[in-house]
Amino acid sequence: MTLWQGKPPLTYKLLTKIKYISDFLNELTYFFYFRSPIKQNPAEQLEISGLNIKYLPGVGEKKAAILREELNIESYEDLLYHIPYRYIDRSRIYTIQELNPQLPYIQIKARIRDLKMVGTGKSQRMTATAYDESGELELVWFKGLKYLPSQIEANKEYLIFGQPSSFNRKINIVHPEIDNFEKISNLLVGFQAVYPTTEKMKKAFLNSKAISKMQAAIFQHLNGKIPETLPNWFLQKYKLIYLHDALYNIHFPSSPEMLRKATFRLKFEELFYIQLNILKLKYKRKTYFKGCTFPLIGDYFNGFYNQYLPFPLTNAQKRVIKEIRQDCGSGRQMNRLLQGDVGSGKTLVAVMCMLMALDNHYQTCLMAPTEILANQHFATITELLKGLNISIALLTGSTKKKERTLIHEQLTDGSLQIIIGTHALLEDVVAFNNVGLVIIDEQHRFGVAQRAKLWHKNNIPPHVLVMTATPIPRTLAMTLYGDLDVSVIDELPPGRKPITTLHCYEKKQNEVFRFIEQELNKGRQAYIVYPLISESEKMDFQNLEDGYDKVNRYFLPRGFSTSMVHGKMKAVDKDEEMRRFVNGETQILVATTVIEVGVNVPNASIMVIESSERFGLSQLHQLRGRVGRGAEQSYCILMTSFKLSNESRQRVETMTATNDGFEIAEADLKLRGPGDIEGTQQSGLVCNLKVANLGKDGLILNEASRVANEILGNDPDLTKEENSVFAAQIKRLFKTKINWRFIS
Ligand code: ADP
Ligand code: MG
Repeated sequence: MTLWQGKPPLTYKLLTKIKYISDFLNELTYFFYFRSPIKQNPAEQLEISGLNIKYLPGVGEKKAAILREELNIESYEDLLYHIPYRYIDRSRIYTIQELNPQLPYIQIKARIRDLKMVGTGKSQRMTATAYDESGELELVWFKGLKYLPSQIEANKEYLIFGQPSSFNRKINIVHPEIDNFEKISNLLVGFQAVYPTTEKMKKAFLNSKAISKMQAAIFQHLNGKIPETLPNWFLQKYKLIYLHDALYNIHFPSSPEMLRKATFRLKFEELFYIQLNILKLKYKRKTYFKGCTFPLIGDYFNGFYNQYLPFPLTNAQKRVIKEIRQDCGSGRQMNRLLQGDVGSGKTLVAVMCMLMALDNHYQTCLMAPTEILANQHFATITELLKGLNISIALLTGSTKKKERTLIHEQLTDGSLQIIIGTHALLEDVVAFNNVGLVIIDEQHRFGVAQRAKLWHKNNIPPHVLVMTATPIPRTLAMTLYGDLDVSVIDELPPGRKPITTLHCYEKKQNEVFRFIEQELNKGRQAYIVYPLISESEKMDFQNLEDGYDKVNRYFLPRGFSTSMVHGKMKAVDKDEEMRRFVNGETQILVATTVIEVGVNVPNASIMVIESSERFGLSQLHQLRGRVGRGAEQSYCILMTSFKLSNESRQRVETMTATNDGFEIAEADLKLRGPGDIEGTQQSGLVCNLKVANLGKDGLILNEASRVANEILGNDPDLTKEENSVFAAQIKRLFKTKINWRFIS
């Protein structure tokens, strides 16, 4: 469908070309648009995702390739959704006197004199003086020196554009853009979009301006034929502007008001479709998907509860178990996310749910993201359940062939009741006799596709409980897990002392060592963690080894012993080192982030995180969660170098200010944006948010979700005529992802 046929109406051209249009006129123009009926002519419909940008005038193969590599932009649609990250008010011209280094990009109208080359070698640069009636300032260039002299003439007025900075207490502009004022003055309207670019793009002359030109070329080429993606009645009901107009105004805002409307329409639509898609699955599951029913609470559950429960459950644990019990007894499949801060006692909840499955003659499995964690769960759970005569096995990458075959057999014939393991559980050879409950611990390490595999391990889909220790901000949870029911353990077991978190510069390493020594002398244990960007990077691996040497040099002569674990070690060695630390044979564990999730050694009361500026907030919080598990006062020491970026400083400040995982998750979302938050990458959804920002657009999300619910409430399958646009758009947007969502 198109907004109009043939050429766009004159009003539209006016909108874009006239130098100055008041908001009022704008509104009026828009009013008329809105009333002109949309022509629905399928033959005219353009699939803008199918049009390749290389055919745009001035683009070609080479630039297209760079755009694809750098920004994943291939089609017209991709480029149209490459949204400016800010706008420059091109209608405002500053005088030189007004400038100060705090200003963002600005423009001045000035003449230029004294263009000259200064310095030699690397510091060679060209400088000039720009002046207007109010004063003068220096312009500096380090690149493009050859072409400059031919571009600048004395006594001509230029529009000079750039960011003022201060050098030797004088204001200058480095690498200003310079345009002949006369030629450009008619373009000085409204807001100019600024696009994210990369170094490689800039080298190929694909700067923000070039992108802007390409956007303009698209609009010219499409000539108004951008298919509308929301039905007319919906646009009217929620006062949204047309997609074409929204996209146009996002790139070429004709007024602040139109920019606001454009942004709102695009954000609302984006969040609305995500909600519609996810909630549709929830409606569907509730209607069509039968689950195994767990009607009984029997000897396993009761026996454990009455005889072997190591401590009274917290109220939060009780509540969550009740919620899960209700779900599993309801006859429909459970898909539940269990959120609980580190140390809140999720394992015990998992165990009790597993016993429910056993009481109803189902098998159950618990999957952990690392071997260390799987081993630990196996040890904890066999210990907890040892009085109950239950068959439990551990299946990981290191399980020996013979044992593995046996486990496979026992799973298939049903004699094995509980299996705990890693990714090894996902292999195709693993087949259950009758699995009723699948528990996935520390879910953020697993890809969505991997989880989907477990789904297929039974005829009737097993109940799924996903446990995460990374608290997820509400907006993110709604977007990622909108189709899941959520339980929250919001209470820590009694008697825990809050962890004291300190920030320390690396210079003070010895003082930190001395402090550790004091605590070790009281019988405690300590973790010292080194960063590793990825476990395969040799350079950082070296860091850990250096650190290990340093720690050994200080602590071995003082009668302490140390362990080391990292991701490159053989599993047997890792286990042995872990075992020694867990048993208290070693007092210090030097490690990489392999210990980030789940490791539980209550006697450890010190966590030192080296180069902590290199970790994200949720990771820091996870690491800190390794201590504070016993009754002792625990400490987390964040080591950083002296030089800290603003963001790193904010992270450190957040960590020292609060122990609350949810607060930290919110701060993380605000600092980094959802695409970077651990666990969201694999979702393929949130990081693809092109316009909306879950850190800021919570209110729009709420409204989008409410509207989606309302529509699905009346038409869960979106089969009514008035909802056909939604159905088609969902298909188009989520065609590859849809099945995975069943399990995440
Ligand atoms: P997480 O939620 O991080 O997985 P765990 O299940 O590992 O936490 O529990 C952390 C610690 O708290 C363990 O040592 C566990 O034995 C203990 N714990 C769990 N529930 C309780 C409880 N109700 N009372 C006291 N301690 C508990
Ligand atoms: Mg855990």
